[in-house]
Amino acid sequence: MTDLVASAPAREPWREPPLGLLAELTHRCPLACPYCSNPLELVARDRELPTEVWLRVLRQAAELGVLQVHLSGGEPTLRTDLETIVAEARALELYTNLITAGVGLSARRLEALVAAGLDHVQLSVQDVDPEGCDRIGGFKGSLPRKLELARAVRAAGLPLTINAVVHRHNLDRLERFVELALELGADRLEVANVQYYGWAWVNRAALMPTRAQLDHAVAVVERARATWGDRLAIDFVVPDYYAKHPKPCVSGWGRAVIVVSPDGRVLPCHAAHTIPGLTFADVRERPLRWIWQESPAFQRFRGLEWMREPCRSCPRREIDFGGCRCQAMALLGDPEATDPACSLSPEHGRILALAEQEAAAPPPPFRYRRLEPVAAE
Ligand code: SF4
Ligand code: SF4
Repeated sequence: MTDLVASAPAREPWREPPLGLLAELTHRCPLACPYCSNPLELVARDRELPTEVWLRVLRQAAELGVLQVHLSGGEPTLRTDLETIVAEARALELYTNLITAGVGLSARRLEALVAAGLDHVQLSVQDVDPEGCDRIGGFKGSLPRKLELARAVRAAGLPLTINAVVHRHNLDRLERFVELALELGADRLEVANVQYYGWAWVNRAALMPTRAQLDHAVAVVERARATWGDRLAIDFVVPDYYAKHPKPCVSGWGRAVIVVSPDGRVLPCHAAHTIPGLTFADVRERPLRWIWQESPAFQRFRGLEWMREPCRSCPRREIDFGGCRCQAMALLGDPEATDPACSLSPEHGRILALAEQEAAAPPPPFRYRRLEPVAAE
């Protein structure tokens, strides 16, 4: 077989800066979503980076060429220094996106964040049904608080994205998610099918939708795009296990995104710590530029050289980059394998059967995200 990788022109994508910095300011969160992408072993408050280190990280990110900062967590508004962090990002001309669950952010605090230079808010909504919202997030009275915040965001003139994480318990209410996003004046609705990492991995059987639910959701999205496309952008990616091709996870390893976790470790994606043998540099010990360009963890799956067949000679190898390394590790125990979400993977049929089997069985109870470690199965 022709080795297309060997004949491809040399590329050094890591000489390009990352577009986005995902700043995981804290793992603390008032909610306890069973699909949270945070690791099973959460970083406790006393191990979080102090303000001055985050400000240095922002300066180094801007110097590296980063354009957008996603302020995330956990719940980033639990950091009392958030205004200072936003102000520094604004001074550095970085675009700031606050990713929040919206249950503890008052209109007054939002005003302070806007005054500091906040550009955009992404609000997670666990369900459009109040009871479902509380049950999924493990937090009472969550939906009215979220709606109040969404209205305050729009009143402040900020663009708003509604982040709907969907799974077997709420996928059938997708039409109402669309209606809610329209009613709130959101610019974008991100229909984020659960990705099975972190807490979602231990809750997979409780969350896996059926193929019928998925087909219905695709039809809803198509209709909504046709009707409301000029008012509301809708993102929708087919959930991994039912996909034909995998998603271009983090747009390629070490290519577009740099993640700084609450304790200062710097990762190519938020689940990269699940791959054995990788060590992650600490932002207190190394500059971000060195970590991005030189650190072994960022080099490990960068470019195309690491790929095996069928990815190595596949025409899609620079579109989806072989899918997700963490998913290949989680499902096959081999981070170099083709992501089994891909229909060209020899393991795809087995993974699809697993999804169908889990979706057909009654859902087990949630294992809620908590600070105490949980053993992965
Ligand atoms: S997914 Fe839920 S628990 Fe995790 S950070 Fe977001 S709101 Fe908090
Ligand atoms: S074989 Fe690899 S590169 Fe080709 S579509 Fe599948 S995952 Fe992507």
